[in-house]
Amino acid sequence: MMQQYLAIKAQHHDTLLFYRMGDFYELFFDDAKLAAELLDITLTARGKQQGEPIPMCGVPFHAVDTYLQRLVAMGRNVAICEQIGDPRFSKGPVERQVTRIVTPGTLTEENLLDGRRESIVMAICPAVDNAQHIGIAYINLSSSGFVVSTIRRDTDLEALIERVKPSELLIPFDANVATPNLEPIEIDRLSFEPTLGKRTLCQHFGTRDLAAFDLEDSPQVIGAASAVLQYVKDACRDSLDFVDSISWERDVDRIKIDAQTRRDLEIDRRISSSSADRTLTHVLDQTATPMGSRLLNSWLNEPTTDLFVIRRRQAFTQAILNRSAQFDLHTELQRVGDMHRILTRLGLGTVSPRDLTRLRDALKAFGAIHESIRNLEEDSEIVDLDKIQDISHLIDLLARALADNPPATIRDGGMIRDGFDEKLDGYRKIHTSSNELILEIEADEQSRTGVSNLRIGYNRVHGYYIEVPNSARFDPPEDYVRRQTIKNAERYITPTLQDFETRVLNSHEDSLDREKEIWKELVESLKQDLALMRTIANVLSRVDVINSFATVAGRYNLVCPQFQSSPGMTIEDGKHMVLLTDDATQFVPNSIEINDQRRMLIITGPNMGGKSTYMRQTALIVLMAYAGCYVPAKAASIGPIDRIFTRIGASDDLAAGRSTFMVEMSETANILRNATNQSLVLLDEIGRGTSTYDGLALAHAVAEDLLNRVGAFTLFATHYFELTVLANDHSNAANVHLDAVEHQHEVIFLHSVKPGPASRSYGIQVAKLAGVPEPVLDNARSHLGRLEEQSLQSHHSTLDIFANVQKSSSDSIAKKFLERIRELDVDEISPKDALGILYELRNDSQDFDI
Ligand code: ATP
Repeated sequence: MMQQYLAIKAQHHDTLLFYRMGDFYELFFDDAKLAAELLDITLTARGKQQGEPIPMCGVPFHAVDTYLQRLVAMGRNVAICEQIGDPRFSKGPVERQVTRIVTPGTLTEENLLDGRRESIVMAICPAVDNAQHIGIAYINLSSSGFVVSTIRRDTDLEALIERVKPSELLIPFDANVATPNLEPIEIDRLSFEPTLGKRTLCQHFGTRDLAAFDLEDSPQVIGAASAVLQYVKDACRDSLDFVDSISWERDVDRIKIDAQTRRDLEIDRRISSSSADRTLTHVLDQTATPMGSRLLNSWLNEPTTDLFVIRRRQAFTQAILNRSAQFDLHTELQRVGDMHRILTRLGLGTVSPRDLTRLRDALKAFGAIHESIRNLEEDSEIVDLDKIQDISHLIDLLARALADNPPATIRDGGMIRDGFDEKLDGYRKIHTSSNELILEIEADEQSRTGVSNLRIGYNRVHGYYIEVPNSARFDPPEDYVRRQTIKNAERYITPTLQDFETRVLNSHEDSLDREKEIWKELVESLKQDLALMRTIANVLSRVDVINSFATVAGRYNLVCPQFQSSPGMTIEDGKHMVLLTDDATQFVPNSIEINDQRRMLIITGPNMGGKSTYMRQTALIVLMAYAGCYVPAKAASIGPIDRIFTRIGASDDLAAGRSTFMVEMSETANILRNATNQSLVLLDEIGRGTSTYDGLALAHAVAEDLLNRVGAFTLFATHYFELTVLANDHSNAANVHLDAVEHQHEVIFLHSVKPGPASRSYGIQVAKLAGVPEPVLDNARSHLGRLEEQSLQSHHSTLDIFANVQKSSSDSIAKKFLERIRELDVDEISPKDALGILYELRNDSQDFDI
């Protein structure tokens, strides 16, 4: 046995080997030491090698999932070695084979999976022969998707990983690829070799070349695709026939969102924690199935720019909302469960009896859902109902074949329904009703021999026998063979009885074997319709997501956004989707208007006033609209957007050796280099991480570059009031501010967006709210007074202000200004007082900029 173990282990030296022995998976040698430590299980020993005890530890087979889950979470791969031979017929150790390598990206086992997460392995093949692009390929085992694409050197890798979220990332051994946030797995360079790769792919798809997949001219992509395909095949120990196509993913019909923006917008993960709570996906996810939930996530992570697709989603949402007859789609969909993953296990041949009962229920539920959505307008376009043929044969087969409450595994049988297979029924009958059968045989023999007190008996030595009392007048038939003579009777056996005996003794195993045979046939026969069932699962996932959109739209009064061809957007009374769902917040809606003539909004206002919220809500509305979802607003019309960029919040990236300011500037550089005049850019407090003047100068220059050269739609939140002058010098920039009032030294946030710049930040009031001690606040107030005075004196004199008011304001304002100054009745008017009056006048008259 140890020889067998070592031979298998030699092929899996990098992987923990779980070696099946009876009811346990055992680990030996270094594997045992490592597993004992990782899993906190007892290390024992078994036998000796070169005089030394062999370390061993083990886990019971029925609890193996728990251990696998823990090991996979720790990033360990595990090779599962099963007994595949029949112990009844094997001499020496039972034949064993690695049947599966459990790796994070190839999980298909229900108990090991997080329903919301896809199982994705991605391979990256660096550019070869000075080619411009890096080849990317990934397999999504949850949906059988096989996708390829290219990215420009390194720069887009982070965004790609954040979007696709692979669980494993393969790169060629020793390749110099920076893979942020995910430790890559280095594999043999040969796996990425394009010539071999082409052969692998052609063999897999059964084609002569790769022209049909448009892959012929992309050696890096072929390299990545063959590497990932081979890796997944090895891990699943399967030919992956169900992965029957490969498709290109191209950026053109998607809004590009880089990794930082994805995090800032908290699409599916919070910035402050990795939790999914209170993220956009979380509040929009009212799906009934895990596959719907995964699809929703991908729609939100990859908003499409294909208006045709979006309009179909919108039309279907509207159709669900309009429906008069109430059909509870959600409850029906709940019966569907994770059909995609069941189909993956079906493809791999690892499907369980309970999986198939769920598949049966899913197919039945589809029947009802199909009926209900067939009448909805435009439905066939979104859900491709036309492509689906009749599935009654599948439902019928599953209904006939499966027992009512089948066991979790096929190990002990019991999954096939009585009446499905005559042979199986025969075995079961023998097993369960051997006593009745004995009575039947007894009666037959009695009538055959005419001996009414003939009996059939059983003992451990002789097995079944026919006992005929000596008193009977009896001439033994020819097939009676004397077995034993006892005091008052003779005992015989017959071939029929012997056959019966063998059958009874073997019936349990026979029925188990037969059941497994039927199971195999059943699985094979279902596999024939895998593609059809996948289409159904796709339809159901889409219906689930759109039903979820409709549910949220109904619950929160969302509106269907319009799409305009002209640049910019108009959102009337927009809201922040996540804050909107928060019962404790009375959300104040705000409108936004940006267009060709109004490309930048400089947003000022107090701390905590709602500047970030206003910016984020705009980006989220755009993202939701392009995902095909309704949006939180009274009305929304949105123009073409190619990318969304954010530069929000400050954090350092010490691991990558970047300080807070360095991170801020790298992100800014990325925006300036990549944004276009169709991009939506959110900049929050840019330039705050350095000295005031450096920061202000940079912020000013960045804003001007965005206005003059890039022309992106920019929301620019800042506490540098000096930046509000941008609106004077650039006709396509405008000031808006978040309103707040001060009342008895307390600031009251009104959260409403008003035209024009704000006058102050209320930083000290907010610090007070945050619990900064009163003496510190007092001190801050006096510092502030001094600073403001100094600043004003160095920048303006009262005379400057007079001159400017006269030059740049309307006569009536200048008149009012003078009147108010006269009212002051003091000898010398300080610049601060003069400005204070101007601010008051500004509040009264909205069309007057200071
Ligand atoms: P700072 O300048 O300090 O970063 P800010 O102006 O960016 O502040 P936000 O972070 O957007 O302020 O908002 C602060 C809080 O105010 C939010 O957490 C939210 O609770 C509340 N808030 C913001 N906007 C609104 C609104 N429109 N309606 C109701 N509450 C709001």
